[in-house]
Amino acid sequence: MKNDQIAECFELLADLLEIQGANAFRVRAYRNAARTISSTAESISDFSTQGGDLTEFAGIGRDLAKQIQEIVSTGQHAQLEELKKQVPSGVLDMLRIPGVGPKKVAVFFNELHLTSLDELRAAAEAGVIARQKGFGKKTEEAILKNIQMATEASARISIAEARAAADGIVEDLLKLDGVKQASAAGSCRRRKETCGDLDILVSCDDSDVPMNALAAHPFVSEVLQQGDTKQRVRLKSGVELDLRVVPEESFGAALQYFTGSKEHNVVVRGLAKDLGLKVNEYGVFRGDQQIAGRTEQDVYAALGLPCFPPELRENRHEFALAAAGPLPKLVTLEDIQGDLHMHTTASDGMGTIAEMAEAAKARGLKYIAITDHSKRVSMANGLDASRLRQHWKEIEKVRESISGIEILCGIECDILEDATMDLPDDVLAEADWVIAVLHYGLKQPREQIMKRLMCAVTNPHVDIIGHPTGRLVGRREGADLNIVELLKAAADHRVMMEINAHPKRLDLDDIHAALAKEMGIPIVISTDSHTVNGFDVLTFGVDQARRAGLTCSDVANTRSLKDFRSLLK
Ligand SMILES: [Zn+2]
Ligand SMILES: [Zn+2]
Repeated sequence: MKNDQIAECFELLADLLEIQGANAFRVRAYRNAARTISSTAESISDFSTQGGDLTEFAGIGRDLAKQIQEIVSTGQHAQLEELKKQVPSGVLDMLRIPGVGPKKVAVFFNELHLTSLDELRAAAEAGVIARQKGFGKKTEEAILKNIQMATEASARISIAEARAAADGIVEDLLKLDGVKQASAAGSCRRRKETCGDLDILVSCDDSDVPMNALAAHPFVSEVLQQGDTKQRVRLKSGVELDLRVVPEESFGAALQYFTGSKEHNVVVRGLAKDLGLKVNEYGVFRGDQQIAGRTEQDVYAALGLPCFPPELRENRHEFALAAAGPLPKLVTLEDIQGDLHMHTTASDGMGTIAEMAEAAKARGLKYIAITDHSKRVSMANGLDASRLRQHWKEIEKVRESISGIEILCGIECDILEDATMDLPDDVLAEADWVIAVLHYGLKQPREQIMKRLMCAVTNPHVDIIGHPTGRLVGRREGADLNIVELLKAAADHRVMMEINAHPKRLDLDDIHAALAKEMGIPIVISTDSHTVNGFDVLTFGVDQARRAGLTCSDVANTRSLKDFRSLLK
């Protein structure tokens, strides 16, 4: 059982208990446990079945540990099943309405006896909701407006789409007369791999200026809501964007507040309270006096904290890092010197060897590896031994004809379903760089997946595991693998791990990459380019590495080729 499934059980339990009006402390305990479990890289299920002590994890006490064991061993949670019987599924659907949480749903269910979205809609239309204590006409209207969205599938967009939209709009807002500052906030600024909606902050004396510009922006399809300082629009892609106009003296505070994450900000507010201060979207306050707010730097400094890079603000390790000294300097796009995963016309790429090398050089890269597919990937025209050897000869020719960039002869070699390599050892031995990957049979049982990965890791010629889990963000789950076991073996056999930078892959993910770092495994951020423009995605891989807390020394392809080579076995 995957960690996310266990976490989901606890989240659902917390929702159901809250709807039933259970003790707030108990509800919070489940939510904390869910968060711990979903942000743990190690398989909780394996840890539990192997007799590990679950109370070692933050927020997991004796009682919760027992419940986890129950979920892992029986595949379900008796109390959760019981609660599900008491609360109709239509009531849980109400939780998907933006702005409606368990407390409001509790009123709908317990006091108004509404059990589905349709019944809720009818009640709102009849004006019943507005008459409830704590609800008003506005809330009722919001529910009516948002109920449709709850019925539609909740669409999240990739970080690539999110950044294209948010960065493009910010750039255009900054060109307007009177606009002093503008920035994306929220999960997009934290570079989360998918975003549910977008947030932009702007400071401008006349809020009509940015709002009118946004309403007329080519990315925008309609204005959903407009107030004095806040505007909500829907983009043509379907995703919603909130624009907030904030005073200059509060810009940093608002940026800090709306960048989040919620979990990060809870800790920030707690630390402020300990200092006798209050922090909100307007500033840091001692009593009524504002002591910071103009820049994020000021806001954090007023609390004795460093200005955390947004990618770290998830309440994972950042506060511990800050307590231990200056924050580590995270890897940046400019640090990357080589790209070690790309395809050419020899397999399914669109560029020739020379075109890819020139394009990489034009972007300032100092070295690349050409890594076309091996023969198993027949639909991508994968190479057998003799074609591969011929291909390498071609690479050598290009190598001699182009200066200013080094080219390694590589291969992206499939790890076959029967746990053998797609190419014989003597061929792999001739390569400068061997990426081993799973492409097929991703649904095989964990035992076989691990057997395949171990076959690659223990092969003396394999340098790295490419897109290790095989997941596609939002579309396909990764193979069922034991990440800890894989990383341990990789560390023992000096095999590196890839962060595949394609926004559809981002594999390893942030949590697994952080674990690899902890285990001392060099990470390589690769583009897996199939065209000369494919190098564009490098930035998303770097984002993911930053979310994992990786520095230059953790990322092997920040080194010169000579230093990089010294890492190879
Ligand atoms: Zn691949
Ligand atoms: Zn590839």
